[in-house]
Parts: sequence; C-alpha cells; structure tokens
Amino acid sequence: MKYDVVIIGAGASGLMCAATAGYRGKSVLVIEHTNKVGRKILMSGGGRSNFTNLHNTADNFVSENPHFCKSALSRYSVRDFIELVERHGVDYHEKTLGQLFCDDSSKEILRVLLTECEWAGVEIHKEVTVKQVQKQAQGYQLDTTEGKIQAQSVVIATGGLSIPNGGATPFAYEVATQYGLTVLPTSAGLVPFTLQPDLLEPLKPLSGVSHRITASVGEVSFTENMLFTHRGVSGPAILQISSYWHSSDEVEINFFPEFDLLIWLKDQREQRPKADISTVMSQKMSKRMAQILCELFSLSGNMADKGNAELEKISQAFCHWRVKPSGTEGYRTAEVTLGGISTTEVSQKTMEANKAPGLFFIGECLDVTGHLGGHNFQWAWACGFAAGQAV
Ligand code: FAD
Repeated sequence: MKYDVVIIGAGASGLMCAATAGYRGKSVLVIEHTNKVGRKILMSGGGRSNFTNLHNTADNFVSENPHFCKSALSRYSVRDFIELVERHGVDYHEKTLGQLFCDDSSKEILRVLLTECEWAGVEIHKEVTVKQVQKQAQGYQLDTTEGKIQAQSVVIATGGLSIPNGGATPFAYEVATQYGLTVLPTSAGLVPFTLQPDLLEPLKPLSGVSHRITASVGEVSFTENMLFTHRGVSGPAILQISSYWHSSDEVEINFFPEFDLLIWLKDQREQRPKADISTVMSQKMSKRMAQILCELFSLSGNMADKGNAELEKISQAFCHWRVKPSGTEGYRTAEVTLGGISTTEVSQKTMEANKAPGLFFIGECLDVTGHLGGHNFQWAWACGFAAGQAV
C-alpha cells in the first residue's frame, strides 16, 4: 500500500490534518489502533465538547517555548473552526469565559471532522497497530498489522498519556526518541489533587460542595470554582492550577476572591457582637462549610472578643489557606499530558521534525498544553491544519 500521507492516530489533530491534506489532493490514510475514532472528542466537555475558546491566545498554553504555538494558532484561528462547525449546522453556545460548547452533543464535532475527511477522500483504518516507522531513501515505510505501508510523509498524532484505558499510548514519544528528538518529562495536567488523610478526613463531609476561589502556585493564579471530592479537590480552578504544580509545591487557596474579608469581619463585629465566628462565616458560605473550615483553621469564639489582630488571623486563614496536595489523580483522570516532545526540534510553521524530513508531530504529544476551556482542541485544530498544509 502506498500513500502520500499516513497519519497515525484518529483523534482531534489527526482528523483535522487528514482532511486538510486530503483537500490538497494528497492520498491520505489515517491509522487508529483502537476500534473507535475521536474517543476524546466524544468524552470532551462532559459530552458536549468545549471545542474552542473565543479568547484563545498563546498565553493559554504551557510550554518550555511559549512562542512555539503562535504561528499555527494565527494561521488557523478560533474563527476558522467556528466557521467550519457553522457550515456543518452545529448549534453551539458560549458557556462561560469564552468557552464554546455544542448545544446537543460532542458527536456533532466528530461528525464534522469525519464528514470533512470523507469529502476530502481520506481513508481511515481502525484496529491497526504500527510496529515500526522506518526512514527510506524516499519517504517512510510503516510495518503494521495490515502489512507494509509506504508514505511520503508520516504524521504522528497519537496524543499524550492521559486516559490510558481509552487508547492512550507513548507511541509518539517512542518515535520521537527513535529519530533523535528530545522528549521532556511528562506529567498529568488538568487533573484533580489528592490530599493527605489527616487533611482529607475533616473535609470529607464537604465532598460534592463547590465554592468560587482563587488557586495560586507562585505567580500563577486562577479564579474559578473548586469542588471538594472524596479524594481531595477538583473543579476548574484546581484543574487549571494543576498544570503549574510540582510535587513539592503548596497551593494557596483564597475563599474570598474579589472581596475584602477583613473589612467585612470588622463590620460584623459591630453588627453581631454575640455571634460566633462560624455563624458569621456561614453568611458567606454554606453553614457546613463554615463550620468545617473554622474547625480546620482552629477558629472559635464570639465576634465581640476578637481584636483586630485576631480578625486579621481569620482573614489570613480563609484568604491564604496553604495546602500541600499529596499528589494528583494521575493520567487515569487527567484531561491532558504536560511536557512531551520538545518543540525545539520541530518546525513551528509545519510541525515537521527538523532532524527527520517528512516526519511530523502534532497535537498533545508535543510540549504544548492548553488551559482548560477549549484551548487544547484549538491547538489540535491549528497544528493539525498546519501539518496538513505542509505534508
Ligand atoms: P487524541 O485526541 O487523544 O487522539 C489520539 C488518537 O491516537 C486516539 O484516537 C488514540 O486512540 C490514537 N492512538 C494512540 N496511540 C496510538 C498508536 N500507537 N497507534 C495508533 N493510534 C494510536 N480539550 C478541550 O479543548 N475541550 C474539552 O472539552 C476537553 N475535554 C476533555 C475531556 C476529557 C475527559 C479528556 C481526557 C480530554 C479533554 N480535552 C478537552 C483534551 C483534548 O481531548 C485533547 O487535548 C485532544 O484530544 C488532543 O488531541 P490529539 O489529536 O493530540 O490526541
């Protein structure tokens, strides 16, 4: 079998790349090792796919080279993908913070990509495993469970390590290493934190409760909801900050972003001198949460007995709670993989490996990780398009 382009991995970036190359008149084969294409697209956004973000910029990505993603993002913009879904009649809405979701189902996004692939004459072979990718005098030879396949260009679009029981493999990193590219250490990103038993135990009754917070690690912070879970903490603010967290870091949590708690506490001392601190705090959060956090922070007593220094201490406790997660839930639940193939040896315009002409790497396998909110898909569309234009 002979093709101009073979793309390994029928996910977000691979399907976008395939359609783009197919429309250029290339013969294109997509190889998927599972029996299902676009599995993560189907899982995404709680089944409604947060397929892009109106405010997408290079600042929404974590990478050793923050400039790498700029070129591809500028050549295939958020508007371009919105136009594509509109052409296919997909109804969508902005949920919050520029996040666009399907009104109906994430199946719609997969339908768009598969229709585009069909119109562009792309072949998709499922349940095929690639054993080897070998450079030849002209292009590459793939040794697969379907036999040997020749290709002028090979695009590796096999994603990262998150959700291992959904088909994730380290294939991209192995091929990158084989061709002399640097693979940076990987870790789970956009992932819930787990807590030590001594901290988890008192917080357990709050499992399922969420509260708007600011979560910070060093200079980076996100203000969104935090959700207490039976293992630790999750919710958008936590998932976002997890991409900046290293195992020895403390995370600072402010339960009162955009609110001056100290001034309010001083006012409450005047207004309700006989009320105890937990009752006062329950005006600003659920009663249960106020009780549990006051116990955790060892805060008790009536407001009238509290001097300014003590009110300062209370304010500090709620606005600068420093938590040391015991870890994360890992790749099992992570939405993305941080790190991966270093962008230093990959062309930012075409995604081609500098050391291996004709070999391209796209999507999550590269050291480009988006924030929560549709940015990871926008990267997949943009780099898939860039490679599809170049193969
Ligand atoms: P993938 O889409 O993961 O595709 C890789 C493909 O390659 C898969 O089909 C896989 O089976 C296949 N493959 C792997 N190894 C091999 C191999 N050796 N041979 C052949 N095929 C192989 N991002 C957003 O922007 N918005 C969201 O709403 C969102 N929700 C998410 C929800 C969940 C639960 C998860 C896990 C992720 C979510 N993401 C979301 C992230 C997003 O899904 C990924 O960033 C994106 O899919 C990455 O695209 P990709 O093409 O690099 O890899």
